[in-house]
Amino acid sequence: MAVSDHVDLETFIGGVKKRNPGQPEFVQAVQEVAQDVFEFIEDKEQYHSAQILRRIAEPDRVISFRVCWEDDNHNVRVQRGYRIQNNNAIGPYKGGIRFHPSVTESVLKFLAFEQTFKNSLTGLPMGGGKGGANFNPKGKSDAEVMRFCQSFMTELYRHIGPDTDVPAGDIGVGGREIGYMFGQYKRITNRWEGVLTGKGLEYGGSQMRPEATGYGAVYFMENMLKHKKDVIEGKTAVISGSGNVATHAAEQITKQGGKVLTLSDSGGFIHDPDGINQEKIDWIKNLKNVKRGRISEYCDEFKGASYHEGKRPWSVACDLALPCATQNELNEDEAKMLVSNGVIAVSEGANMPTTLEGVHVFHDAKIMYGPGKAANAGGVAVSGLEMSQNAERISWNHARLGEMLTELMEGIHGKCVEYGDQGDGYVDYVKGANIAGFKKVADAMLAYGVV
Ligand code: GLU
Repeated sequence: MAVSDHVDLETFIGGVKKRNPGQPEFVQAVQEVAQDVFEFIEDKEQYHSAQILRRIAEPDRVISFRVCWEDDNHNVRVQRGYRIQNNNAIGPYKGGIRFHPSVTESVLKFLAFEQTFKNSLTGLPMGGGKGGANFNPKGKSDAEVMRFCQSFMTELYRHIGPDTDVPAGDIGVGGREIGYMFGQYKRITNRWEGVLTGKGLEYGGSQMRPEATGYGAVYFMENMLKHKKDVIEGKTAVISGSGNVATHAAEQITKQGGKVLTLSDSGGFIHDPDGINQEKIDWIKNLKNVKRGRISEYCDEFKGASYHEGKRPWSVACDLALPCATQNELNEDEAKMLVSNGVIAVSEGANMPTTLEGVHVFHDAKIMYGPGKAANAGGVAVSGLEMSQNAERISWNHARLGEMLTELMEGIHGKCVEYGDQGDGYVDYVKGANIAGFKKVADAMLAYGVV
């Protein structure tokens, strides 16, 4: 058999850029993975000749559709919906749905690509997918959100199924939206099955799913610190975001004796030097999930806190940083600021929140840095457990799922150390996550041949 000419990294990235014009987020995500994978496969001919990474970086399917709905003033509105089915080598496509005005094909392709590696890292049988729409739920009435979700599912239902593709929540999609979408799926298909995760407890949801992403990101932080014989207790933490991931990350930092100094939303951040304790976190959960208000309102409620309009929280000195808002929310300068203020560890609750340049700053400074695809994998891992419970038609209790989440995060950390230990005591968690995530998917693809 002729040995194929190996494409080098630069040519590979050039090809990705050329084939995906105007998709910077997708190119960024592939670039970050390709660096490590190319190094890993250098002496492994089978992965080269089968063009494995080239194939993972070409989604199995990109589905795009029109979503029409009527607002409360009877205006007809038109949005673009998507489902990206990136790779199902190791299980049904799995990944969230995002409703946000910033949603583009590039953003969802990056998320579906990342999800493929993340889901592989969990050790559970789940492929990678992502979906969403450029719909802005902010300021919409419940009835408008319901009509949008129903219209979105009226197209999506034909592309998904419990053994095909299992969507869940993401930015702008929480319990309310999952309820409306699950209801519409059931109505159209006349099937009650585990086609979505993140469902309410009354209709097949899993205990621990709401907490899983945020708690998991803190468990990952805990594992990184433990590896260095350190603990969260007594440390200060800066967290961005104020949604499901950020509030649960704050809750778990607090439970472990850390002090949370900040939270944020798209308007700005709040800084509370006294610490955002459980009572304050509960107030924020109610503000965001029920009243659907703005984080600035925190300062009217709790004295001693300040609001910083239009700013991100990375200038606040801290020991630990947890970006839990969105992609590219922490750039090179902000990473430098965190390092010069003495940060020792970063654990990402969001997907790709740090820019490529920012990641280099953390690595150069030898900061413990847990990338989203490893650190925030607890969410999708418990989604995988929700799928198992639905398939078995049983529900496990909170304590049992809590233990399983703790073990899953320990396992993911262990895999990152296995493939990312640099031998000098420093763990390159990005490399570890990329290689461990890649290997399982790649080996399954090799077993299937050219399909
Ligand atoms: N959207 C979440 C993520 O980025 C969860 C996906 C899921 O539970 O399927 O991993």
